[in-house]
Amino acid sequence: DDAGGVTLVPGRVRVAVRLRPRNAEELVADADFADCVELLPEHKRLKLRKNNWDSDTYEFDEVLTEFSSQKRVYEVVAKPVVESVLDGYNGTVMAYGQTGTGKTFTLGRLGEEDTAARGIMVRAMEDILADISPETDSISVSYLQLYMETIQDLLDPANDNISIVEDPKTGDVSLPGATVVEIRDQHSFIELLRLGEAHRFAANTKLNTESSRSHAILMVNECTVHVKRYVKGRESDLSSENGNTSHLFKTFKAPIVRKGKLVVVDLAGSERIDKSGSEGHALVEAKSINLSLSALGKCINALAENSSHVPVRDSKLTRLLRDSFGGTARTSLIVTIGPSPRHRGETASTIMFGQRAM
Ligand code: ADP
Ligand code: MG
Repeated sequence: DDAGGVTLVPGRVRVAVRLRPRNAEELVADADFADCVELLPEHKRLKLRKNNWDSDTYEFDEVLTEFSSQKRVYEVVAKPVVESVLDGYNGTVMAYGQTGTGKTFTLGRLGEEDTAARGIMVRAMEDILADISPETDSISVSYLQLYMETIQDLLDPANDNISIVEDPKTGDVSLPGATVVEIRDQHSFIELLRLGEAHRFAANTKLNTESSRSHAILMVNECTVHVKRYVKGRESDLSSENGNTSHLFKTFKAPIVRKGKLVVVDLAGSERIDKSGSEGHALVEAKSINLSLSALGKCINALAENSSHVPVRDSKLTRLLRDSFGGTARTSLIVTIGPSPRHRGETASTIMFGQRAM
């Protein structure tokens, strides 16, 4: 679509790293040891300690420290994505990292008692609600869990095997079987997230697994916005009424309808599971997580390398995100890490996942 000045060059994924502070246990157990990373946020760099005297340095689009506020994290990671969704494009925000490093803290915190604690989902909805006109515009939301290559509806637990439909012409992805809830205000959105979390917990208890073993996916579908922005131009460009050129280049309200989709993905924990020690269900589960996260890695590496072939077919996760890869879509990845020297190996592998996406 050239009319909007849009190029079809595959968009690079923007990658931020966020370090969480030491927790109570680490403050005690690691008291005599330095953190495994050192951040240089003003240079957008991170040093990963190799030993007491040597470290490797990595660069990211954004380096968020243990002191970075939720507001700042939203502004650098998600706000540009939300803005492009309001302009009618597809946008995705994903969090990748070892269990316990702050993926859900970053994306999913509701912050009901303390609004400063609110995460990306709630802040994104706040910005979307602020931008739309309730009379003409609409927002609808679906909330899903992807576990062992099966998509479950977090808004309707009976609906536990949703299929993905791809438009062969446009490549657009939809989930016709998923519950879609119209959102009118922040309160109803927070209630919906809370309901989804409760259903997720119940479903995982029944399946005898942890929520860290599945991906949670929030879809803000068809966020339809009748653009209110004023643009400079000829009034006659808008109305077919001919003739009167005396009002050249006055500003007018452009009656354009834009439809964007925002997807927020709280990925399954990236920790390597010791497959030799696992058997039965745990082994199948581990293989499924490895499959989807490595398929995701391959897709975002393909984007980073400007490759025309993005291998989306390899997993449900990447099929679901197909219309987030390349084209006019905008994607932000936040990789979350912990400071503990005991988890240096996992931290290193999370950093490398982020590096390969750039
Ligand atoms: P994950 O979803 O990656 O498994 P969580 O978001 O559940 O991790 O975070 C694990 C714990 O660490 C939680 O108790 C959470 O409150 C805390 N935590 C995570 N990130 C931060 C942060 N940036 N600041 C303070 N506490 C954090
Ligand atoms: Mg989590």
